[in-house]
Amino acid sequence: MNDSRHQNEVTLMNKVTIVGSINLDTTLYLQRVPEPGETIRIQKLITSGGGKGANQAIAAQRLGAKVAFIGAVGTDDVGQQMLNLLRAAAINVDGIAQLADHTTGQAFITVDEQGENRIMINAGANTAFTPEQVRQSQPLITTSDFLIAQFETELKSTLEAFSLAKKAGVKTILNPAPAIASIPPELLALTDIIVPNETEAEILTGVHVYDEKSAQLAATKLADSGVSIVVITLGKAGVYYQTASQQGLIPALRVKAIDTTAAGDTFIGALASVLQPDFSNLTEALLFGNQASAITVQRLGAQDAIPFKDEITPD
Ligand code: ATP
Repeated sequence: MNDSRHQNEVTLMNKVTIVGSINLDTTLYLQRVPEPGETIRIQKLITSGGGKGANQAIAAQRLGAKVAFIGAVGTDDVGQQMLNLLRAAAINVDGIAQLADHTTGQAFITVDEQGENRIMINAGANTAFTPEQVRQSQPLITTSDFLIAQFETELKSTLEAFSLAKKAGVKTILNPAPAIASIPPELLALTDIIVPNETEAEILTGVHVYDEKSAQLAATKLADSGVSIVVITLGKAGVYYQTASQQGLIPALRVKAIDTTAAGDTFIGALASVLQPDFSNLTEALLFGNQASAITVQRLGAQDAIPFKDEITPD
């Protein structure tokens, strides 16, 4: 990577590539879920773009990065709709394959009057996306500052992407969500920053994470597996971070949360959009992540709730 480009432009705009999932979310609001054999009327139906990958891409782009996406949709109408949505958000979709034999990923969410949600996912094209397809998008990875992945796509494709990134000196961010019990050591070896939430950190380390002290214990375990920076998001408590030379809790902003959907995705997109690739402004970038996701939790919805950079007031 060209150093003069870094000096001149990175503070203004990081290049971020996301390898991840793209879903259409359909949310059904109902009084209660039906019993077996029962038919009930739904009160409201909302469709929106979703998938952790797509949410993080939208967040990074709105918060100042130049974003490219690597993933897959089907050749169905939903796939076209999702491509249009990402294109309209000024995201480079050249790395998104359109797979004829697969449906586009979809999530079906019911929310009852108690606010309890149930989520069913058709992964579709997201899990049909191969390492070969990742290789075809190699230039999108190797010209980036950061590569981000989650676990809603195939592990072997993520491994391929991280391996290409590492060879090119591109920094990698792993959001281990949804949680899996153990991450292959070869993926951890290619990861610069790991960003789990409390639940994911607990499943990965066996440490019940609920405060600063337990977060520190879990972070140390994750750091011992070879990742240089561990960032555990702690909901309304903020974020705990640990590097080889520093650690600490950065408290969340005190706000009235009404819907925390996409808080984590906003945080990760925000972090990648402002972090220097040498990590020299890590604490400032984490604070920016807290500021951005504090806006998301005060709004309803997922992608609709993610703020733009100019909505964030400097300290
Ligand atoms: P989700 O799955 O809902 O997208 P998550 O579980 O991945 O979220 P969290 O740890 O809940 O992630 O939240 C991510 C960040 O969002 C937190 O580190 C914090 O900065 C911010 N945040 C979350 N909840 C609140 C809240 N109630 N008040 C202020 N900030 C919040």
